[in-house]
Amino acid sequence: MKATIITIGDEILIGQTLDTNSGWIGSYLENNGIHVHQTISVSDSQTQIVDTISESFKSVDLILITGGLGPTKDDITKQSLCDYFNDELVFHKAIHEEIKSYFAQRQRIVNSYTKLQAYLPSSCEVLHNRKGTAPGMWFDKEGKMLASMPGIPHEMKDMMPSVLQKIKAKHDLIEIVHKTVYTRGIIESHLAELISDWENNLPKEIKLAYLPSVSTLMLRFTARGHDRSYLEHLIEQNITSLKSIIGHYYSPIQKRLAEEVVGELLKINNQTISLAESCTGGNLSKMITSVSGSSGYFKGSLVAYHTNIKTEVLGVKTNVINDFGVVSEEVVKEMATSCKALFKSDYAIATSGLASSDDVDGVKGGTICLAVATPDKVVSEKILFNTSRPINIERASNKALNLLIQLLS
Ligand code: AMP
Ligand code: MG
Repeated sequence: MKATIITIGDEILIGQTLDTNSGWIGSYLENNGIHVHQTISVSDSQTQIVDTISESFKSVDLILITGGLGPTKDDITKQSLCDYFNDELVFHKAIHEEIKSYFAQRQRIVNSYTKLQAYLPSSCEVLHNRKGTAPGMWFDKEGKMLASMPGIPHEMKDMMPSVLQKIKAKHDLIEIVHKTVYTRGIIESHLAELISDWENNLPKEIKLAYLPSVSTLMLRFTARGHDRSYLEHLIEQNITSLKSIIGHYYSPIQKRLAEEVVGELLKINNQTISLAESCTGGNLSKMITSVSGSSGYFKGSLVAYHTNIKTEVLGVKTNVINDFGVVSEEVVKEMATSCKALFKSDYAIATSGLASSDDVDGVKGGTICLAVATPDKVVSEKILFNTSRPINIERASNKALNLLIQLLS
């Protein structure tokens, strides 16, 4: 079964409201065996709404709509549905009573606008709204099904189970199984090349998606069919063969956030970490301590922002700074080594760089040096990041944590 989601409202098109309904409904449908064919956002215009419904029904048998159900003149979804289904609005006394009692409980007065919400297309089945006053509508005509729900997210979410029940009453839904694999230390195009043959030989039931993020490159497996345990088994089989091909790029802990993986690995090894942060300004500390249980492995950090702090507190040698510059692998290596000693930790990360895009003293803006001191060595990297200051900091922090993950595993 395929579905199209249509969200209605000028506020979505002009960016005043972020369309969260589509994503939520999409995930809800996928989890229940309904494939989302398309999501479309349209303005509060009757022609637009009617045309979009007509066009969508050419490729799917199910449409889910949110928005445009308010009692005010700008909301015209009900009129549009009447136009599409060649229907008219009729007064539902029972719904009016429900709205009146909903208002009475909240000490609000029902006026003529509120009463308009009890007018619904004559051929629809009413979907009760337990969280608000705008009822939803269900149409099932000539093999085509349509649900119209309020735009307010929590009202729509409360209504979705009853919509699903109506769909299930008509159709046998297939099973859809999703599984995400987390990889680290490799970019999308390299991974695609590495697993190209494996990917070409994936069974037809499995679809693969690459989802890059700042901390991990995820591979999402989606399998569709009728036998859930067979699909789960098929995915597991292919993950096993994938692991043997990608080796150390397979994240040792299958979690999304690098700080969570670091935490798990340190706990397993019974080891500790400390930080000497310059350009990341405490961001790494914030990431590490956002993980519950971090007190078990995080010793502490020093934001060594000023050069004097690097030399006076961390003991970085002045001649190293003079010879190589404060943004250099030599300096971060010294910072990491002395941080590890200062905090008596097993590992230490150090950062120094230019987070902004402006060049300083011949160093290109966005140049960031990272070092990780381990119990027996120090590893460093120099990277040129080319985005904005906050994103450069976020990327550098993740890069440092991923370097640590490599060394920890
Ligand atoms: P409406 O049903 O058009 O009266 O929408 C009521 C409110 O719900 C709007 O003012 C938005 O704040 C919110 N809303 C409508 N559509 C969406 C959507 N697609 N995603 C998230 N919020 C929405
Ligand atoms: Mg609206």
